[in-house]
Amino acid sequence: MAERRELGPNEDPVCGMTVDIEQARAKGLATVSEGVEYVFCGKGCVLEFRDDPATYLDPAFVPSM
Ligand SMILES: [Zn+2]
Repeated sequence: MAERRELGPNEDPVCGMTVDIEQARAKGLATVSEGVEYVFCGKGCVLEFRDDPATYLDPAFVPSM
Protein backbone atom coordinates (compact mmCIF):
# COMPACT_ATOMS: atom_id res chain seq x y z
CA MET A 1 0.00 0.00 0.00
CA ALA A 2 1.25 3.45 -0.88
CA GLU A 3 2.29 5.92 1.76
CA ARG A 4 -0.48 8.25 2.84
CA ARG A 5 -0.52 11.85 3.91
CA GLU A 6 -1.35 12.51 7.56
CA LEU A 7 -4.81 14.02 7.83
CA GLY A 8 -7.05 14.97 10.69
CA PRO A 9 -10.31 12.98 10.81
CA ASN A 10 -12.20 16.18 10.00
CA GLU A 11 -9.81 17.55 7.39
CA ASP A 12 -10.88 17.90 3.75
CA PRO A 13 -7.97 16.25 1.87
CA VAL A 14 -8.58 18.30 -1.27
CA CYS A 15 -8.69 21.88 0.04
CA GLY A 16 -7.48 21.45 3.63
CA MET A 17 -10.60 22.90 5.25
CA THR A 18 -11.86 21.67 8.62
CA VAL A 19 -15.19 19.93 8.17
CA ASP A 20 -18.01 18.95 10.54
CA ILE A 21 -17.98 15.15 10.19
CA GLU A 22 -21.65 14.60 11.12
CA GLN A 23 -22.82 17.27 8.69
CA ALA A 24 -20.58 15.99 5.93
CA ARG A 25 -22.01 12.47 6.34
CA ALA A 26 -25.57 13.80 6.41
CA LYS A 27 -24.97 15.71 3.17
CA GLY A 28 -23.26 12.82 1.40
CA LEU A 29 -19.91 14.62 1.55
CA ALA A 30 -18.02 11.64 2.94
CA THR A 31 -16.32 8.80 1.13
CA VAL A 32 -14.26 5.76 2.11
CA SER A 33 -10.95 4.93 0.48
CA GLU A 34 -9.01 1.81 1.51
CA GLY A 35 -11.03 1.54 4.72
CA VAL A 36 -10.49 5.15 5.82
CA GLU A 37 -13.29 7.70 5.78
CA TYR A 38 -12.66 11.16 4.37
CA VAL A 39 -14.95 14.15 4.65
CA PHE A 40 -15.29 17.16 2.39
CA CYS A 41 -16.52 20.76 2.46
CA GLY A 42 -18.56 20.40 -0.71
CA LYS A 43 -19.55 18.36 -3.74
CA GLY A 44 -16.66 19.67 -5.84
CA CYS A 45 -14.04 18.33 -3.44
CA VAL A 46 -15.75 14.91 -3.11
CA LEU A 47 -15.88 14.50 -6.87
CA GLU A 48 -12.26 15.52 -7.35
CA PHE A 49 -11.17 13.11 -4.64
CA ARG A 50 -13.17 10.19 -6.04
CA ASP A 51 -11.62 10.82 -9.46
CA ASP A 52 -8.12 10.34 -8.12
CA PRO A 53 -7.72 9.61 -4.38
CA ALA A 54 -4.02 8.80 -4.74
CA THR A 55 -3.23 12.38 -5.77
CA TYR A 56 -4.81 13.85 -2.65
CA LEU A 57 -3.38 11.23 -0.29
CA ASP A 58 0.16 11.57 -1.63
CA PRO A 59 2.45 12.82 1.18
CA ALA A 60 3.79 15.45 -1.25
CA PHE A 61 0.35 16.94 -1.96
CA VAL A 62 -0.29 20.40 -0.54
CA PRO A 63 -3.99 21.26 -0.18
CA SER A 64 -5.14 24.60 -1.49
CA MET A 65 -8.47 26.33 -1.84
ZN1 LIG B 1 -13.00 21.22 0.14
